[in-house]
Amino acid sequence: MSLPMSRQCGNPGETCGMLTIGASGFCQLHDPQQAAIRSQQARQAARKSHEWKPDPEITAWAETLDFSTVESRAQALTETARLVAQGGLSVGQGQAIAALARAVEPKAKKPTEQPPVFVIETPGSTNGASS
Ligand SMILES: [Zn+2]
Repeated sequence: MSLPMSRQCGNPGETCGMLTIGASGFCQLHDPQQAAIRSQQARQAARKSHEWKPDPEITAWAETLDFSTVESRAQALTETARLVAQGGLSVGQGQAIAALARAVEPKAKKPTEQPPVFVIETPGSTNGASS
């Protein structure tokens, strides 16, 4: 003795053993109408997760980013590090900003590092002195 067909899920090729809901002839899991709704919900969820909504505060801050001078770069990197630490920026975003700041940096020259000047001050030497 089995349940009447109308009460069992009619999912083809699979006996899920679930009872039907309503007049669909399928269980909730296999009801094509439910499946359509589910897949639509899944699509919407996927779209939502791909849709990146930037934080307006971060957007405003990003406008202030300035890599044009050593000082502004240092400032930008400091703020970037702070935002990463605070969770306002992802680590990846922070790394990207840092990499860009480095990219615009001219061949780094420490301000204290002067090119070496060789002046040999030896009496009678002709090096560097005109005689
Ligand atoms: Zn089913």
